[in-house]
Amino acid sequence: MKAYKIAVLPGDGIGPEVMEEAIKVLDGISKKYNVKFEYNYADVGGAAYDKHGTAMPAKTLKICEASDAILFGSVGGPKWENLPQEKSIERVALLNLRKHFDFFANLRPAVVYRELRKISPLREDIVKNGFDLLIVRELASDVYFGKKKTGRDFASDEMIYRKNEVERIAKVAFEIARKRKNRVTCVDKSNVLASSVFFRKIVAEVSKKYKDVELDYLYVDNATAKIIKKPYELDVVVTTNMFGDILSDEAAAASGSIGMLASASLNEKGFGMYEPGGGSAPHLTGKNKANPIAQILSAAMMLKHSFGMEKAANEIEKAIRQVLTEQRRTYDIMEEGAKEVGTKEMGSLIAARIK
Ligand code: NAD
Repeated sequence: MKAYKIAVLPGDGIGPEVMEEAIKVLDGISKKYNVKFEYNYADVGGAAYDKHGTAMPAKTLKICEASDAILFGSVGGPKWENLPQEKSIERVALLNLRKHFDFFANLRPAVVYRELRKISPLREDIVKNGFDLLIVRELASDVYFGKKKTGRDFASDEMIYRKNEVERIAKVAFEIARKRKNRVTCVDKSNVLASSVFFRKIVAEVSKKYKDVELDYLYVDNATAKIIKKPYELDVVVTTNMFGDILSDEAAAASGSIGMLASASLNEKGFGMYEPGGGSAPHLTGKNKANPIAQILSAAMMLKHSFGMEKAANEIEKAIRQVLTEQRRTYDIMEEGAKEVGTKEMGSLIAARIK
């Protein structure tokens, strides 16, 4: 029997509640597919700060190192809001994990299921068939990490890309495209920026090894328009750190609810961390109201990208769509005629369809 170790970091706020539902679904997958999941729970975020004085204890990093993937909940909340920046819960927890594991690739799917098209803020005729795009954002370079200078009457941030940084993110995008529709769109600003001309050139070079994958290009300004006018024409988008930051939030907003969106961060060894797009939603905490689907989809992404269990991941997505088609909804995705369910019930309904 195959076995995988999963570092489970529920964190704060709604994190532990939605994590419980993701584990319910993973348990169903484990039985059906005859694989063993060993859950290694560890403290992170405010919960860890209260116990150990830091949002990312060394012990938690060790548990992550000894695992095959990290399933992350969410961290932070009003209780820890006034900590000094160097102790800031979100910063310490997430930046430490990113740095420690060198997560350079950020996968941000933005999906509108046909069944949920009414919750998208986009016009009905645009989302009538839903859309499913994946932004592959470079996470470890670009203007955020370039040299910064501030003088008396100027300030500058260096926007820089190195060949190996572009090569590795392009490779991730092309590999993923092979598991989807064999299409990649490179988004940049190569009509103006040297770093974008370079980014585009290296992506094109890498594409020669992926002749089965179609590659096209968009300037970032056109891409922002496309996401709200014709998002269904995009599939895998590969882009730089800053453009990816902005585009992935735009695409998330176009999809309707943050409670439905998962994300993944990967390193060169393919090791990954999987987490919901949203935060700890303090006002929903303990109320059995949060939508667990983002956390469940994070687990599905983990199966797909870290364990090669694509079929199981697809089955989870299918189960979610079935439940939504049956008009069971958490409060954030409610619409007229649907029945509102809580966090636990939504998790159980999805898990029940795996059996
Ligand atoms: P948030 O994502 O927690 O909440 C924003 C909005 O989305 C709220 O209306 C919330 O109710 C809703 N929402 C989020 N997740 C939901 C879900 N699963 N189901 C239904 N609705 C959901 O962002 P915020 O309010 O800006 O931040 C709250 C706390 O979370 C802060 O302490 C912040 O630092 C932290 N945070 C953590 C992460 C992370 O752990 N990666 C990310 C963002 C924010």
